[in-house]
Amino acid sequence: MAESCGNPAADADALMPRKSKFDRSDKCVKCKEARGNLVVRHVVYCKDCFSGQLEARFRKTLEPHINHAPSGPRRGTLKPAGDLLIGFSGSAGSSVLLDLVHGTYIAQKAAPEEGKGGKEHPRKDRVWHNVRAAYVEIADAFPDGKMRDRTQDMRDAVAAYDGVDFVPLRIQDAFDPDWWARVTGNHADDALVDLSDEELPILPPSDSSSTPLANLRTFLANLPTPTAVQSAISSIVRVLFLHTAYATSSSHLVLGTSLTSLSISLISTISQGGGFAVPQSALEEWYPNFCRDPVEETEAPNGKTKKKPWRREVRVLRPLREVGMKECSAWARWHDVSVVGKASLPIANAHTATIGGLTKDFIVGLEKDFPSTVSTIAKTTAKLAPKGTSSARCALCELPMQPGVQEWKARISIRSRSDGAAVAADAPEIRSLAPLLCYACHTTLTSRSSRSAAPNKSGAESKNPVVNLPMWTSACAQLESGPAEQWLGTPEESSPSSQEVWETKRMDRQNMRSALGQFLLDP
Ligand SMILES: [Zn+2]
Ligand SMILES: [Zn+2]
Repeated sequence: MAESCGNPAADADALMPRKSKFDRSDKCVKCKEARGNLVVRHVVYCKDCFSGQLEARFRKTLEPHINHAPSGPRRGTLKPAGDLLIGFSGSAGSSVLLDLVHGTYIAQKAAPEEGKGGKEHPRKDRVWHNVRAAYVEIADAFPDGKMRDRTQDMRDAVAAYDGVDFVPLRIQDAFDPDWWARVTGNHADDALVDLSDEELPILPPSDSSSTPLANLRTFLANLPTPTAVQSAISSIVRVLFLHTAYATSSSHLVLGTSLTSLSISLISTISQGGGFAVPQSALEEWYPNFCRDPVEETEAPNGKTKKKPWRREVRVLRPLREVGMKECSAWARWHDVSVVGKASLPIANAHTATIGGLTKDFIVGLEKDFPSTVSTIAKTTAKLAPKGTSSARCALCELPMQPGVQEWKARISIRSRSDGAAVAADAPEIRSLAPLLCYACHTTLTSRSSRSAAPNKSGAESKNPVVNLPMWTSACAQLESGPAEQWLGTPEESSPSSQEVWETKRMDRQNMRSALGQFLLDP
């Protein structure tokens, strides 16, 4: 203890540039003895006290959610229903998370002095039977070796922790029917969708078989903006983690999202229309979309909710969501955590050309000068509660979908009466993906920013934006042919009160433009 807390001069200079590091006292607020080594939002900690309180915060965020049924006052036995999966990206946050999980729940031979700072806790049998760390390699999404495959680096980083198995994934697994069959035991046909049409009509599967990698690249290449590419990749990675958790019978998926990255993702998600799923950033219970019977709690008559037994749903948690980037780095430095680093996507001008990049620059800059603002962003955003709840989830990102989006879309979309002769009676019904998507994903797939090329310029229409979908989306699209309405909870049988018959018909761009002309803001 003496050597970690008490050797200030050298350490302090190495940590902070000359500027006044301490506002008031340079003594640690906890032990009031040691000179501080780190200032977190104007609070001074020594190395030991910092480590103790960070571990305590980690456990306080995670442990109330470990048991399937809440065990009332905490501190009972931790008995998770399944295994644990760590979503590992190589970032400082996920590296620190791996270190904390290992140190808290796996390492047995903790020396007595190690528990200092935190409260005593019983170190007995390991909490989860199996702990795995999954990593999704995204290098293949970008051709010509623009991104280095870092699977081996990640494997080495995870191998440093005994008792944690490494699960390597590749982003093209999302388009691989074999992967889908492995994790779900189900078969799904490819579904093709036409991205040039806002309704996203689903086309019959093609005979030409292409590789999952080619399908992935075609999908990304046809997204309208760099922002869309960025958010599609992070959705795909997230859903790959979820399915991996499901396939490995994990009751918990933990992600290394720090306070800083949580704020970045909340702001950029909200600005892309994903606000409905904000509560899921704190706690999410997920089960695959193909499981029709939601494992939701049943509402008991007395108003209490009763949990059903665990049925392999995955609880997604971010135990570091109150720990800032600076604290993660400090932990990594003091606990010899090797941080491989998260690769940035090779998107041209990602910093200025994507919502994610701009938000990141903004928040990181803000954190530097006004460290308290970032936690305010996360805390304020966490209070947002969307109107209503929903059991329907988006076919692409698998997050809850705003109820009524369908009705809303129906209201704002142009439809034609079927009494005209325009539509042949035997024309095949066009199924559409749009109603199965949340607002944010629909925007990701279809809308162009002011920065992207104007849609009707020459060449824009000439490329053929028909793409394959990730397997989970394909699976939903196929379900849609059958009980989609029932699934979405909108009984849409022709109501007897109205004799109108509505039918969806494709309009060409010219007609659509003239019909919409008066509502368009752009000249
Ligand atoms: Zn101290
Ligand atoms: Zn979505």
